[in-house]
Amino acid sequence: MRKLLLYLLATLLSLLFPSTENQHTPPAFADTGLTVHFIDVGQADCALVGCGGEYMLIDGGNVDDGRLVVSYLKQMGVERLSCVVCSHAHEDHAGGLSAVLAVFDTEQVYAPVEEAPADYFDDLVRYAGKQGLAITVPEPGHRFFLGDAAVTVLGPTRDYEEANNTSLILKLCYGESDFLFTGDMEIPGESDLLDHWGPDFDWNVEVLKVGHHGSETSTGYRFLYETNPDYAVISVERGNPYGHPHQEPLSRLRDAGAILFRTDRLGHIYAHTDGSTITFSWENPYAEPEDAIPADPAMKRLYGNKKTLKFHRHTCSSLPSEKNQVEFTDYDDAIAAGYSPCGSCME
Ligand SMILES: [Zn+2]
Ligand SMILES: [Zn+2]
Ligand SMILES: [Zn+2]
Repeated sequence: MRKLLLYLLATLLSLLFPSTENQHTPPAFADTGLTVHFIDVGQADCALVGCGGEYMLIDGGNVDDGRLVVSYLKQMGVERLSCVVCSHAHEDHAGGLSAVLAVFDTEQVYAPVEEAPADYFDDLVRYAGKQGLAITVPEPGHRFFLGDAAVTVLGPTRDYEEANNTSLILKLCYGESDFLFTGDMEIPGESDLLDHWGPDFDWNVEVLKVGHHGSETSTGYRFLYETNPDYAVISVERGNPYGHPHQEPLSRLRDAGAILFRTDRLGHIYAHTDGSTITFSWENPYAEPEDAIPADPAMKRLYGNKKTLKFHRHTCSSLPSEKNQVEFTDYDDAIAAGYSPCGSCME
C-alpha cells in the first residue's frame, strides 16, 4: 500500500513538474550575430557577451560566485577573454572576477579605479598582474570592438564619492541593436551622463541592463525617456534584503513600455541579435517575462507651466493650473520649446 502511494505521488510529481534537463543548458553561442548571457548570480551582476568568436565579461558576481562563473564560461566553450569589465568596485560586481582572471587568458581589464580598499579588489588587481595586465581606466568616449560589435564607454563623466555612480557605462552596438550596461549608476549619474553628451546624442537603445538591481535610486524618468528601451533586464535575487527591485522603477519601466526580464524569476537570461531582430530565451521554463502594459499616452504626456517654463509629469503635486498649462507629447518636444524638467517629478 505504501509503495503504491509513493508510486502515485511520484507520478503526480512528474506530471506537475516535468523533466527540465534541456532547459537548464544555456544555448551555445552562435557563429554569427551578437549574444549576451545575463548569468544569474543572485543579488549581483554578471554578463557574458560573445561576438565573432570573441568574448567580454561584464562583472563577475560576488566572491562566492567565482566558481559558478568560471564553470559557466568553460561550459560555453570560452577559452580566452578579449575583455573583462569591472563596472565598479563593489563586491557584487567585482568579487567573482579574480577567479575568472585566475583561469582565463585575458587581453584587457577595465575598471573605473586602479585600486580600492577591499580584499576582493586587491585580488582582482593581483590576478590581472599575474597575466601581465594593469587595470585600464577608460575615458568617456573610449571605443573598442568585440568581433563586429562596437563597444563605447559613455561614463562615468565625473568623479564621485560614492562607488555606484562611478560605474562604467557601456553601449554595445551590433547592426541596429543597441545594449546599454549601467552597472549600479544612480539618478545623479544618469543626469550627469545625459548632460555631458548633450541633446543630440542618440541614446535610444533596445536593451537596458537596469541600474543597481532595480533600486529606486536608479532608472529615473529622464533617463528612461532618453534611452527608451524595448527590453529591460534586472539582475536581482528573490527575497534580497534591500527589497530590490523597488516598485517605483518597475512602474517607470512599464510607463516606458519596456518588457521586463528578471533573473530572480527567469534564471539565466539569453539575448541574441542578428543586427536587426533581438530574440530572448531564459533558463526557468515555468516563468515568463513581464509583458509591458502598452504605455498609456496619458501617462507619457508632460505638462509645461507657461509662467515658470518647467514641465511636469501628470502625477506631480505642483502641476500648473489649466490656464497656465501647455501639453507636450514627449521630453524632447518640451526641451525644444525652451522648457526645463521639474526637479521633483522629472528626475
Ligand atoms: Zn554597487
Ligand atoms: Zn550592485
Ligand atoms: Zn513636477
